Amino acid sequence: MDYDSKLEKCKAHVESLLSQRGHAGLRETSYPSRSLHFLNPSPQTKPFRNPPPPIQAPLNPSHTSFKRPLQAHLPLKILISGAGLGGLATAIALRRRGHTVTVFEKAPELGEVGAGIQVPPNSTRLLLSFGLGPYISPHTTSPTTILMRRWEDGSIIGCTKLIPDFEERFGAPYYVVHRANLQLAMYQLALDLGVEVMLGRGVRNYDAGKARLVLEDGETVVGDLVVAADGIKSEARKTVLGGIDQHPREAGFAAYRAMVDTEMMKGDPDVSWLLDNPAQNLWIGDMRHVMTYSIAGGKSFNMVLSHPSDTDPSTWRQETAVEEMKQHFQGWDPRLLKLINLIHETLKWPLLSGVPLDTWLTPSSTLLILGDAAHPMVPYMSTGAAMAVEDGAALAEILSLITSRSELPTALKVFEKVRILRTGQMQEASLVNGKLWHFEDGAEQRQRDEAMRAEVEEKRAGESANQWSDDVTARWVYGYDAEGEARCAWEERNGG
Ligand SMILES: Cc1cc2nc3c(=O)[nH]c(=O)nc-3n(C[C@H](O)[C@H](O)[C@H](O)COP(=O)(O)OP(=O)(O)OC[C@H]3O[C@@H](n4cnc5c(N)ncnc54)[C@H](O)[C@@H]3O)c2cc1C
Repeated sequence: MDYDSKLEKCKAHVESLLSQRGHAGLRETSYPSRSLHFLNPSPQTKPFRNPPPPIQAPLNPSHTSFKRPLQAHLPLKILISGAGLGGLATAIALRRRGHTVTVFEKAPELGEVGAGIQVPPNSTRLLLSFGLGPYISPHTTSPTTILMRRWEDGSIIGCTKLIPDFEERFGAPYYVVHRANLQLAMYQLALDLGVEVMLGRGVRNYDAGKARLVLEDGETVVGDLVVAADGIKSEARKTVLGGIDQHPREAGFAAYRAMVDTEMMKGDPDVSWLLDNPAQNLWIGDMRHVMTYSIAGGKSFNMVLSHPSDTDPSTWRQETAVEEMKQHFQGWDPRLLKLINLIHETLKWPLLSGVPLDTWLTPSSTLLILGDAAHPMVPYMSTGAAMAVEDGAALAEILSLITSRSELPTALKVFEKVRILRTGQMQEASLVNGKLWHFEDGAEQRQRDEAMRAEVEEKRAGESANQWSDDVTARWVYGYDAEGEARCAWEERNGG
């Protein structure tokens, strides 16, 4: 299938997944996956049981002297708006290639927002090759498995081995970490590499025709390229789309995010077992799920509790959030309820998803958006930030290949083309996970659980309704080489 047909198919799937609340239409994906075969079994599809071969050479996280990457033939002056995970990853990747990079961040301090975050191998492989290992290692936890549990009793219905399987196959670790630790580690690395990061200096205006920013204090700064990584509520997106924004859409769900002090869990055997082995435990049930894992060297326990929500976020009251959260999970596994009872404070987040945009770039090729600004997604694949890291790496790779200023617009177009499809398909995969996890009890739920039974019984499943375990989906998500794909697309464009 050619690129345009793939992208059209992906857009149609995202639209349909967003507009239908139930499971109707959940029959195929535009990205490589066999996770939906159980809904549509065909005699040709046979699970393969041999372990798939490693597809990436292993990385040593403590390694500090990574090969110097290809340096830019044409060093540029690049202005980045936003020092979130996307902006910082892009700044680091570009600086390593020899560009001059300045980041403008409106917040006066970093590291205040968020809770735990998963950093999958497609992202750790890049971050570690950037030299982040020594900065982040003291803060990471490497879960051994992801266990999917039945909502009612916590029985295990899906199992993905991260250690050793994922590490061996994808050549890089799967981390969980506090977002603040990751952001501060990236910030420090950026500074050490010579990136200038201006905190408390927000961007007031983007320019559609020039690589120029007007800051909130009125100062104007000019460069060769502006990269806006200004998050889901991006102002730059509106400029890129010619003044009419394409807002991310409500997915019909919200998430409570909470951290539990592990000292409080240790005294109760009904919950302390969750700390014995650093695993991720995910309870799934009718329209709801709860993702859990410990972070900060086992000192904090991170929880994300997703549930249906159609109300306007401006009407949400944080004071009643804990009580409302408990009501959503009434009747679930008693051990999970004990854990929920340890939550004294929570934040409710709306879950939004975009549909792949037509462009990330102004016609002048001077303003580019990436990260959540360009591809917001529901967090069900845990890859939103990973996509932003891939964006940064791919951009740095492609810009290192151009030899003259006249090639810059074409390089940005090639970058955009590669990344719109990749991230659009991840928006789709994330919505698909929401559907897969949220079956009500019944025939389809039993079929789904049956399609994960082999992995639970320690056999290699090969094909699974669990997108983390399904070999084809996992290879597409975690085996992806963002730099390599960008390079190939550029070479192809130039007839190589
Ligand atoms: C519940 C939940 C769980 C998640 N879990 C995961 C996970 O496990 N793994 C994963 O990979 N992803 C996860 N994500 C997604 C991830 O958090 C985001 O995809 C990622 O943080 C996006 O990074 P970003 O840099 O694009 O945007 P942001 O992190 O939003 O950063 C944008 C930055 O731009 C700044 N900014 C905004 N406007 C301006 C301006 N005018 N001038 C200057 N600066 C400005 C903001 O202050 C901010 O610092 C999760 C998301 C949610 C909601």
